[in-house]
Amino acid sequence: MKETDLPCSRCGTALVERSVPTDQLAIATPVQDRVQVAVCPGCGAHYYPEQTLTMLAAETTHSSTHGNN
Ligand SMILES: [Zn+2]
Repeated sequence: MKETDLPCSRCGTALVERSVPTDQLAIATPVQDRVQVAVCPGCGAHYYPEQTLTMLAAETTHSSTHGNN
């Protein structure tokens, strides 16, 4: 199941998938790329799909532990 298959938890509006640059996200990440997020067109809430969070976490871990593996 994808996050975009679920309605917004705030207002119940169907979510839409969007690709946004990471510098527009509300979370800090060293990733300079575009990621998939689910956006509510009703209230503007953002949801981060698990794969996006996993990717960002992996990139963050990679950067902070570089050469220490
Ligand atoms: Zn909403």
